[in-house]
Amino acid sequence: MSKLVDIVLVGSGIISTSLAMLIHILEPEWVIHMYEKLPNVACESTNVWHNSGTGHAGYCELNYTPKLPNNDVNILNALKINKLFNISIKFWSFLAKNNILNYHNVIHNIPHISFVIGNNNANFLYKRFNKLVKYTSFNNMQYSDKFNELSKWIPLIMDGRNKSQKVAATKIINGTDVNFSEITKQILTFLRKKNNFHLHLKHDVINIINKNYYWDIYIKNNSFNYTYITPTKYVFIGCGGATLLLLQKANIINKNNYAGFPISSQFLLSTNCNIINQHWAKVYGTTINNYIPISTPHMDTRIINGKKFLLFGPFAILSTKFLRNGSYLDWFKSIKINNIKLILKTGINNIHLIRYLLNQSLMSKSNKINLLKYYYPKVNPNDWNIVNAGQRVQIMKSNSNNHNELIFGNEIVYSSNHSLTAVLGASPGASTSVSLALKLLKIMFRKYDFYQSWENKLKLILLS
Ligand SMILES: Cc1cc2nc3c(=O)[nH]c(=O)nc-3n(C[C@H](O)[C@H](O)[C@H](O)COP(=O)(O)OP(=O)(O)OC[C@H]3O[C@@H](n4cnc5c(N)ncnc54)[C@H](O)[C@@H]3O)c2cc1C
Repeated sequence: MSKLVDIVLVGSGIISTSLAMLIHILEPEWVIHMYEKLPNVACESTNVWHNSGTGHAGYCELNYTPKLPNNDVNILNALKINKLFNISIKFWSFLAKNNILNYHNVIHNIPHISFVIGNNNANFLYKRFNKLVKYTSFNNMQYSDKFNELSKWIPLIMDGRNKSQKVAATKIINGTDVNFSEITKQILTFLRKKNNFHLHLKHDVINIINKNYYWDIYIKNNSFNYTYITPTKYVFIGCGGATLLLLQKANIINKNNYAGFPISSQFLLSTNCNIINQHWAKVYGTTINNYIPISTPHMDTRIINGKKFLLFGPFAILSTKFLRNGSYLDWFKSIKINNIKLILKTGINNIHLIRYLLNQSLMSKSNKINLLKYYYPKVNPNDWNIVNAGQRVQIMKSNSNNHNELIFGNEIVYSSNHSLTAVLGASPGASTSVSLALKLLKIMFRKYDFYQSWENKLKLILLS
């Protein structure tokens, strides 16, 4: 048998990488193996072109502050996301201080703006503003429904707009654009210099078998087409959309049943400098479909390798792949006897979502431009191209009471002895990757005496 390693991390996205970095800080002697099936790291959802790069802090995303039946606004989720994102910022700042991350290269301050049209939406936004502005993290939020002021905040969005139309916006200047793939690459460049960290590219984890006191990880070396086994004490499945498939193979006993619902996405991308230079914000609109995050259109300034871009979207597309580089059979492979009822019931209960996805999937470029026109009245279709973005797998869950849920956040799943963990779901994943990794550490290791000293060390890092 090969030597037992301390922990195997499957996948090289931002969540696995954050976990690897934390473990290395806490236990520099531990032997960590990371397996990635693609030839490069961070090439799926974490890739800079595959997500919106919004540092989700609850400032502008209206799906985090739903309107309640009594017309009040629930801001709890926005406050929670803000706290979680601040943990990421603290950790990235710590890495920057220790020369692991070039902070200014990967995180840029860009105003976060919520923009709405119509009296009802403006009233909602004003209520949301009044509730949030009382909290320290939101106390520099501004609200305006003045045409002239908004024309300064968001000139492209206001240019050519009918002045009699009721519009309103809130703005927070310290929002961020984050290059999650660059964070991942810089951390992995640091870790790869360590003797006990091993990154294996083009290595596909094909099975995970429980051996009671350890796990056998079955790995296929894609370059030389052979399979081998690495035994490990702990394992984290961070395969993004494909996590569900591997979790099903690991066959852990869990009180919940899971199924996946893949959605791919597209953006409209402008590379016209004239237009790009007139916009400096991440502008989030109202959700199209029941506060579902994927149905929130936004017009985003992006900074990628020092260059400015402008994105609008995302547009959802029905798909059966769990990864961009996955197989069209992924979804079919994930259907099992124990989750087929869950899939059917969730489908029936969420017909509105299926209808929305079908409509989105059938949108031509000119339909997409028409939606953009609602935000940017003077849009010229020739300035915009369609680009394919990342793949999300929304999670369906049923518990022992047969209660079915469609989850839009992340869900951590773990084995009964807590030595295997996995993260399912898509959003707000990258922005909250550090707090997700901290939660994973707690789940896996809190039963050990050494965990108290880890917590003390982590407090110092996150409070510094
Ligand atoms: C359109 C879109 C917009 C988004 N916008 C934002 C945003 O603005 N802000 C934000 O915070 N988040 C956003 N997200 C979510 C965010 O991108 C993801 O939550 C995050 O990148 C997920 O990281 P991950 O490490 O879990 O997975 P991934 O980045 O998907 O990485 C998984 C890795 O595992 C590898 N892998 C899979 N199976 C195997 C296997 N069997 N063996 C070995 N390797 C394997 C894959 O090749 C991949 O490299 C967005 C997502 C999408 C799709």
